[in-house]
Amino acid sequence: MNKDLDVTQLVSKGLAQLSSGLRTLSKAVEKLPSQETLMRLLTGGEQGEVFTCGHCEYTTTRRTDYKKHLNTLKHMRQLARKIEPGSSVWAQIKQDYSELKQEDDKYVLMAYMWLQPHHRRVGIGKQGMGKWPLRELWEVVHKCIFDGGFYMKGNKLSIYSKTMPRDKFNFDVFTQFREHAHLVIMEANPLIDIRARLFAEHSYNDPWEKYQYSVRNLPMYLKDKTPIQKRKETCSLHEYLQMCG
Ligand SMILES: [Zn+2]
Repeated sequence: MNKDLDVTQLVSKGLAQLSSGLRTLSKAVEKLPSQETLMRLLTGGEQGEVFTCGHCEYTTTRRTDYKKHLNTLKHMRQLARKIEPGSSVWAQIKQDYSELKQEDDKYVLMAYMWLQPHHRRVGIGKQGMGKWPLRELWEVVHKCIFDGGFYMKGNKLSIYSKTMPRDKFNFDVFTQFREHAHLVIMEANPLIDIRARLFAEHSYNDPWEKYQYSVRNLPMYLKDKTPIQKRKETCSLHEYLQMCG
């Protein structure tokens, strides 16, 4: 008899707990979002949600497409164009041109740097050009991208560094130089067009003509120069790096 009572009490206690649990569960269910919303949450993305990549001006409404975008070559290239946040190399040019305060594209910044010596001097906004466009371009790339430590000798097959141990770099640096220089030219050309070219009044040697012939083909060595580049003393990368020794 006592045993039966115990069982009854246990069952009734269990039912009470179950009932309380059900009430809690029921309250929770009431608070669940609608089925439609649930489906949206499960299938990814709020309705109307937009994913934007600030580096590439890429926009999509699909999270999966956005994730794919982050692995594309285009996105990686755009990322590689961004300056290192703490780097002091860019401080001066940002100070000199107020329009560059928010600029974080290293090739735009290098284009301003490259053109600066012949821009500030004229004062009226037009863009002048100096006698050594290519040598000055190699200089900017060397300083901004490579910390300015490389040099070469007469030997075409060896490159040296004043700052890095021998096993920390190889001859790839040489071709990278040219790629970086090319990207700077792509930013400099429209900038020159906007500013308009300043021509020297009495000059037998038009520096703009020299510029034009220099940037069309970036010579790595003496032998790569076109006849007009030879006549106009265009500076090959090898010649420039020999000056750095
Ligand atoms: Zn991107």
